[in-house]
Amino acid sequence: MIPDSERAMDSAQPAAGPLVDPFGRTIRYLRVSVTDRCDFRCVYCMSEAMTFLPKPDLLTLEELDRICSAFVALGVGKLRITGGEPLVRRNVMWLFERLGRHLETGRLDELTLTTNASQLARFARPLAACGVRRVNVSLDTLDPVKFQAITRWGRLERVLAGLDAAAAAGLQVKINTVALKGVNEDEFEDLITWCGARGYDLTFIEVMPMGDLGGETRLDQYLPLSMVRSRLAQRWTLNEIDYRSGGPARYVRIEETGQRLGFITPLTHNFCESCNRVRLTCTGELFMCLGQEDNADLRAAVRASEGDGPLVAAIHEAIARKPKGHDFVIDRRNHGPAVPRHMSVTGG
Ligand code: SAM
Ligand code: SF4
Repeated sequence: MIPDSERAMDSAQPAAGPLVDPFGRTIRYLRVSVTDRCDFRCVYCMSEAMTFLPKPDLLTLEELDRICSAFVALGVGKLRITGGEPLVRRNVMWLFERLGRHLETGRLDELTLTTNASQLARFARPLAACGVRRVNVSLDTLDPVKFQAITRWGRLERVLAGLDAAAAAGLQVKINTVALKGVNEDEFEDLITWCGARGYDLTFIEVMPMGDLGGETRLDQYLPLSMVRSRLAQRWTLNEIDYRSGGPARYVRIEETGQRLGFITPLTHNFCESCNRVRLTCTGELFMCLGQEDNADLRAAVRASEGDGPLVAAIHEAIARKPKGHDFVIDRRNHGPAVPRHMSVTGG
């Protein structure tokens, strides 16, 4: 039976939202990993021989809908569907269709996703029909050979076809580029120009120490964005702007081109003080911080009752434990993962 999130909540249910953590931060943003599987094997994200979770451990699409809908009822206005690669989850469009109803009621401000775009040619139009207006696409290089080296299994032409389909469907695109030392650092200016010509926002991301990579170390990959920024500043005038996308990026405007450019710098800049996010894994663990291990088991809560009482109580308890911040460090002494989870488990 599909529980209807709009049904009357049972009498045991604690007070509804908003969700405010012990540091006074109101939680308005839920990122949901709908699968840990992916059709790529990006070198900074996964080892080539990844072991994935047993399928029965995953939340069903109905359970994902129930949990997301409970968060929306508690004041969450932004849902980002991610993974793994969210568009490889079987029947994932059912979930987008279900969640789209909260956009229609006005309870949800934004339904969006982060994708590698390999399947976007097929899904751009249906996503737009569900109310998705913007997508984040991860793209680290415009060189097909390098693209294959970084993603191991990906093909650049499919991603570019996905981006064309997104444009045709009227979806706004933001490109996320992980800055990789010695790999794509010679391409940042070209990426900025390419994104400018296509009307895409662009955000650079620092490598985060998450999950074992099977041999490679993050120190080899890590390129501080402070360095990237000062290099770009030799060519362009970068002025800080107040724009916030609801995520952790800090933005500058490139005065010469008018473009907005984001930087996500978890290691060189502490972005925790304004954190309004929590993350749900595909097995129903709610992580209150990307860089800490503490989590709450929402799968047990959602399976405990057909009513949402235990689920809502578990969400409130979890938010009451949200930590002040993360402890990521990458240096010569700390080059292993700071947290054992891969980004594909918690969602980027
Ligand atoms: N598969 C989708 C994609 O690549 O867009 C969604 C999931 S992916 C885990 C989300 C984002 O996390 C991507 O932009 C990816 O580049 C980033 N990412 C993965 N592992 C990372 C790491 N160790 N450090 C920084 N970013 C990482
Ligand atoms: Fe897959 Fe995204 Fe991780 Fe690359 S970054 S392996 S596309 S989940």
